[in-house]
Amino acid sequence: MRQVVQDLEASRIREVANEGLGREGVLKFWFGESDEVTPAFIREAAIASLQAGETFYAHNLGLPELREALASYTDALHPGRGAAHWQDRLAVTSGGVNGLMLASQALVDAGDEVVVVTPAWPNLVAQPLIMGARVKSVPLKVLGSGPRAGAWALDMDALLAAITPATRMLIVNAPNNPTGWTLTAAEQRAILAHCRRTGTWILADEVYERLYFAADTPNGAASSFLDVAEPEDRVVIAHSFSKSFLMTGWRLGWLVLPAALTAAVGKLIEYNTSCAPVFVQRAASLALQRGAEVTPALVAHLKGCRDTLVPLLRGLPGVTLAEPLGGMYAFFRLDGRTDCLDTAKRLVREAGLGLAPGSAFSPEAAGWLRWCFASRDRERLVQGVQRLRHWIDTQAR
Ligand code: PMP
Repeated sequence: MRQVVQDLEASRIREVANEGLGREGVLKFWFGESDEVTPAFIREAAIASLQAGETFYAHNLGLPELREALASYTDALHPGRGAAHWQDRLAVTSGGVNGLMLASQALVDAGDEVVVVTPAWPNLVAQPLIMGARVKSVPLKVLGSGPRAGAWALDMDALLAAITPATRMLIVNAPNNPTGWTLTAAEQRAILAHCRRTGTWILADEVYERLYFAADTPNGAASSFLDVAEPEDRVVIAHSFSKSFLMTGWRLGWLVLPAALTAAVGKLIEYNTSCAPVFVQRAASLALQRGAEVTPALVAHLKGCRDTLVPLLRGLPGVTLAEPLGGMYAFFRLDGRTDCLDTAKRLVREAGLGLAPGSAFSPEAAGWLRWCFASRDRERLVQGVQRLRHWIDTQAR
């Protein structure tokens, strides 16, 4: 076995979830998904496709119907170039995670240097490592005071200093899992200008683009590298149907690429998965066409979840957190508890509360816990906080 594969870490979130196996009544907020089922009209489109006998291989880059729908969707969110512009810049992938891996396969050689902004979803670090890259992490810093105390923020000087002509690729996820940190257009411009000078590719994981609560952008979505980049810039954007369309289990995503890279990614798709399932793509086409029935209500609901959970958490003794601007996670520190893996396991066993340990996302986040607030029933969040409060009180005694 390759050494890098042997060295891959087992998921610490799974380790906590395993603690809950066979335990009744655990309130589970550890995984990054909503407990809401995919809307019926999307499921029905998949069923109709299967009933019609669509059980065959399809084009590597995706069904024309879905690619057209994606081109219109992209143009609506990032207007100015017209839907036709996006047609040859799209690749349909088997989940966001597959799109991100394809980008690493296309761009990263063994021995290359890749910079990742952390804390980050663990896959973003593991994927370049699997390609044999050397990964350099640039940590966000925690604001100690002011109205956003406890928020994770970019240290732009540190990031730009870390990206040199030796850096093949920068991987950045904003809105960020787990911290809820987001990038402004001005920051994206500064990063892009620097990466143009160093010849560094930017792999922007924007799967949470639509799950944005700040209402300071024209389209309600978080600012995207697509809004600041030129078509030929070395920028690849990873997207997913999982979060904005409640389709985690369907395994469908897409990449937005410079046109010159699309055919190469099509070749890689051939050797990875060959294509995404047709019935899934049919359902996704309809999800995009009727997205107005899904995403705005979902975002409003998630905002309500955030606004329920965050003030309650802030009211607990020893808890520090800032309101997340995007994504679906509350990320908080519990004073005096540096071993968050142990804390998360104990919370499962002793409080019936399932959270993800911050150390799963980077060493700097040891002592932090991630709470996915995408809960259909907000009362579950309230109950979860009650359990946490009770547990903290018992510890203090
Ligand atoms: N990027 C980030 C930051 C994520 O949190 C996730 C899902 N947890 C993904 C990508 C991938 O999502 P999927 O493979 O379900 O599309």
